[in-house]
Amino acid sequence: MKTTPGGLRGSFPVPTTDPVSGATISLLVESADGSSQILLDAGTGVLNLLPRLRPGALLALTHFHLDHLLGLPLLAPCGLSGILSARPDAASILSRVYSPPVWPVPATTAPFVLAAPGTPHVHGALTVAFHPIAHPDGCHAIRIDEPATGESLVLATDIEWTLMDAAGRAAFADFAHGAGDLWFDCHFLPAELPAHHGWGHSSWRDALDAARLSAARRVHPLHFSPSATPSRAASITRRLRPARR
Ligand SMILES: [Zn+2]
Ligand SMILES: [Zn+2]
Repeated sequence: MKTTPGGLRGSFPVPTTDPVSGATISLLVESADGSSQILLDAGTGVLNLLPRLRPGALLALTHFHLDHLLGLPLLAPCGLSGILSARPDAASILSRVYSPPVWPVPATTAPFVLAAPGTPHVHGALTVAFHPIAHPDGCHAIRIDEPATGESLVLATDIEWTLMDAAGRAAFADFAHGAGDLWFDCHFLPAELPAHHGWGHSSWRDALDAARLSAARRVHPLHFSPSATPSRAASITRRLRPARR
């Protein structure tokens, strides 16, 4: 399994010298043999992934906040095989966002697929599963497994770890158990969290806690705050290294 981040910023894209760190969330996951592609979220980072995308790729959405949808119209000519979401009203939400006068044309003609709770969706060599997490308006963590290689990835963006009780954290840990790579929301610094209770985001300390509980092999930060400088992002990334093994 190969993962290519296209955008790691949260909430708003920012101009940076590194296009991936400035663009909002989108990651491309490909099977080891290259036959299956799953795009996770469609922030402005889609622009950085277009050269790698092939017809038949599946888009899986964590939720419908704009920073995760801004790149959706770029996918119109890409021949997506479908848009997978855990929300039954996904099609109506997207048609509300992308319709005149807000946007001149529909953003996608790809078919919508409802992710059944507790049942992984098979996309070629990869399987996709969803798990609800704490975030305003709802959000799902997404797990991708590659049965042929035993590799796995969990994306937990837009999650407020400190709002989840012990049972909620244990359920997340079950879902993410043994993940090879855990991508986790690091929007705030720990000291900033008390002033942002209910905003729906976490810190590097929460990422370490989630990785430990889940026995994840590696943990990576994403959803950096729009105000995060490159040095702040680098320092968060360094703090997560102890969890990598
Ligand atoms: Zn977001
Ligand atoms: Zn959000």
